[in-house]
Amino acid sequence: MCEKCDAIDKTIERYRQIQQRVLDQQLIDGTKKLIAELEAEKAALHAPDPDGQ
Ligand SMILES: [Zn+2]
Repeated sequence: MCEKCDAIDKTIERYRQIQQRVLDQQLIDGTKKLIAELEAEKAALHAPDPDGQ
């Protein structure tokens, strides 16, 4: 885990808390989409880079 992952995890955690609090299905769907995007971003951070690092 690096700082970027930590920051992403904190953001995901915030969205999860919103999901538990709100009753607005559209908003819940929106946060689900954002979480999926953040999870993908996190995975990409540690994916093998063909250009090398
Ligand atoms: Zn990381």
